[in-house]
Amino acid sequence: MEFDTIAAISTPPGEGAIAIIRVSGDQAVEIGDRLYRGKNKLQAVESHTIHYGHLYQPEQEVKIEEVMVSVLRAPRTFTREDMIEINVHGGVVSADRILQLVLSQGARLAEPGEFTKRAFLNGRIDLSQAEGVMDMIRAKTDRAMNVAMKQVEGRLAGQIKRLRQQLLEGIASVEVNIDYPEYDADAVTLQHLLEQIHAVDREIDELLQTAKQGRILREGLATAIIGRPNVGKSSLLNTLVQDARAIVTDIPGTTRDVLEEYVNVNGVPLRLIDTAGIRETEDVVERIGVERSRQALQDAELILLVFNANEPLTKEDQALIEASRGFETIVVLNKMDLERRLDREQLTEWIGDVPVITTSFLQEEGINELEQAISQRFFHEGVEAVEMNYVSNTRHIALLNQAKASIAEAKSAAEAMMPVDMVQIDVTRAWEQLGEIVGETAPDQLIDQLFSQFCLGK
Ligand code: GDP
Ligand code: ZN
Repeated sequence: MEFDTIAAISTPPGEGAIAIIRVSGDQAVEIGDRLYRGKNKLQAVESHTIHYGHLYQPEQEVKIEEVMVSVLRAPRTFTREDMIEINVHGGVVSADRILQLVLSQGARLAEPGEFTKRAFLNGRIDLSQAEGVMDMIRAKTDRAMNVAMKQVEGRLAGQIKRLRQQLLEGIASVEVNIDYPEYDADAVTLQHLLEQIHAVDREIDELLQTAKQGRILREGLATAIIGRPNVGKSSLLNTLVQDARAIVTDIPGTTRDVLEEYVNVNGVPLRLIDTAGIRETEDVVERIGVERSRQALQDAELILLVFNANEPLTKEDQALIEASRGFETIVVLNKMDLERRLDREQLTEWIGDVPVITTSFLQEEGINELEQAISQRFFHEGVEAVEMNYVSNTRHIALLNQAKASIAEAKSAAEAMMPVDMVQIDVTRAWEQLGEIVGETAPDQLIDQLFSQFCLGK
């Protein structure tokens, strides 16, 4: 394919030791040569090498900057096009000035995600891989990063392509039948088609089962810490934050602007809801009352319900138990270092079959147990043990569900002894829906919209 030459600053905005201006397209190296003076012309050097030199304002021969320029020739590049990467001293002004120079020589400013989009359009990666790139940028924990990386490697794409192939074989056997109607093998054909789609259906189910875990790894588990005043909510929050191997907040430059707080609990990213309230000791419950805190809990996927073991249960505790009903809840029985005044039997009676972890945040006890309980609640085998393809992307999940529905229709059509070409229509639809995951049947509009979510320069 033929595209114009694009350029953008690929490093995050702000100050840094270096900034990189990326240029991709047929003109990339030539544009570089109009600005660069070094030992050799960039057009003369070998691919995948880096060169020291200076950039000049063309015509005026004014030295602008000291640079290192990488020359990367198609097709072994990120975009599969000729590329140069200009490394300049960090700083907003410097990088911007170089970008302006490059643009003045005929490159066009890249749209967000356009480099990755070119990798897709030039056939280097498929759509699910491109989405994986975006997930890698946004990953909050190592584990989330690994899931995204597998997607970038094309593991999910490979599986989807295999499933499509299977459906296609089924469809093909029907085509043969339609082309030779005198060869009346309807029953045999249908049998074969059904076997194929059963197998595909089972694998789609397995993939969908990973969806919840995948989404948690990707977006974090929305977690609310609730409990009466003074039971230890802030202490719990601080403990989680301190203990977390990585506290990750959203990376600037991605399109999600809201800054949320994440803690890493055994590889599971918890997205803490309403932590500001807890921080100011004016927590959710204190501030807005139990009734309204129900509202605030709506988005919670996990509730850590904290009690003070040193005090008898109160009406307010009971109200909080009611508020947490229907949510995944873990009870944190805190202040175990003090005399026990809370009636465990009463608690069990009120709350039912919910895991209870006893802790003392003062003496730093029970914290590992709590973290174990949290991660095992959502990843029974432990996050690290899982080596399968996770489906984490909402778009992929929706398409898998659609394909599953189409297959269900094909099955019932087959069972109702409908003509085999009717069944074929449903199977073909499933085939197309799966194709949309990897971008083979995705409409242009969708593709544009997806890539526009990337940050500039990616
Ligand atoms: P919150 O109001 O629920 O956020 O409770 P805080 O975390 O602010 O704790 C209230 C008080 O209880 C503070 O003085 C803490 O130091 C104390 N506290 C927290 N956890 C424990 C514990 O496990 N044992 C004891 N003895 N005191 C604790
Ligand atoms: Zn507090």
